[in-house]
Amino acid sequence: MRHNWTREEILEIYNKPLMELLYEAATVHREFHDPNTVQVSTLLSIKTGGCPEDCGYCPQAARYHTDIEGNDLMGVQQVKAQALRAKAAGSSRVCMGAAWRNVKDGEEFDQVLEMVRTINKLDMEVCCTLGMITENQAQRLAEAGLYAYNHNLDTSEDYYKDVISTRAFQDRLDTIGNVRKTNVTVCSGGIIGMGEKVEDRAGMLVALATLDPQPESVPINALVAVEGTPMEDIEPISIWEMVRMVATTRIVMPQTQVRLSAGRTQMSREGQAMCFFAGANSIFAGDKLLTTPNPDVNEDMEMFKLLGLNPQAPFVKKAQPETVEAADSQHLPKGEKPKWSRPGHTIPRNEEAKAKAKA
Ligand code: SF4
Repeated sequence: MRHNWTREEILEIYNKPLMELLYEAATVHREFHDPNTVQVSTLLSIKTGGCPEDCGYCPQAARYHTDIEGNDLMGVQQVKAQALRAKAAGSSRVCMGAAWRNVKDGEEFDQVLEMVRTINKLDMEVCCTLGMITENQAQRLAEAGLYAYNHNLDTSEDYYKDVISTRAFQDRLDTIGNVRKTNVTVCSGGIIGMGEKVEDRAGMLVALATLDPQPESVPINALVAVEGTPMEDIEPISIWEMVRMVATTRIVMPQTQVRLSAGRTQMSREGQAMCFFAGANSIFAGDKLLTTPNPDVNEDMEMFKLLGLNPQAPFVKKAQPETVEAADSQHLPKGEKPKWSRPGHTIPRNEEAKAKAKA
């Protein structure tokens, strides 16, 4: 396992002749994973819209005018019912997403902790993506039985400044560092097709692959350009770029679960098959990925049948965490008010989208 990858080395892999790249990635994939097994996750938006951040790709940012219908935090029983449905449809993991800048101690976080306890007791892997968290909050999630925490780097450190102005790349790394102080696994990846250069894709992979340990899971998303967001006019990337990105991720992070995430509705089955061959071994199921469209579960199961793929059982890579009940918690809220950074520089396309929304 290497943790000293350089941008040049990763670019060299990314730019190899395609057949060579595919062969190398598929060989690494077979060494570390069953090539016929794909993990299926269900992504639930437990609190939608109204986010104070300005991520240029995101329809949930309050400052842009999109068709997203905002929702308050879902109830525990509602989440349980959706998790049970997801389990019956073949998902082994539920990932709960809340459109928050960072987690605040209090009633809403307590409710999320209860959701984690409830889903872990359904013998499903539980993942959360809630924004920036402190070490104490990560410990409380771990104690509740959280299996994974998602916090994407999104892109390279260089390009990050052209996408988001309300937080810094280092904040992302700090949250990942806080998760790493617990037994919770790390899920962190990014989005391609946001107007970045290939060097930025390699830069993001350097940032992920040089973490020690590397993230257990790396989602690779293709931008889904949503009307009203600053990136609404960006053309979708070609499948070849997705295949190259998946294959390169597989080669530099051999043990990682590589997730073929947003953008699958724009891909043919042949394209997705090529991604699986190149080392993708996880998908998100369900007709919505937080707020953007995703293939229907039945379509995915048909595709699995066609390709001879099987959904992965839960807790194959790591044992199920134990759930500690709220009353027995060893980690009480500290009521910290961490100062996450707010660079606040100007990103012209973000400002334009904000002005359009106001108008
Ligand atoms: S990506 Fe997350 S943090 Fe950024 S605007 Fe959307 S919900 Fe908020």
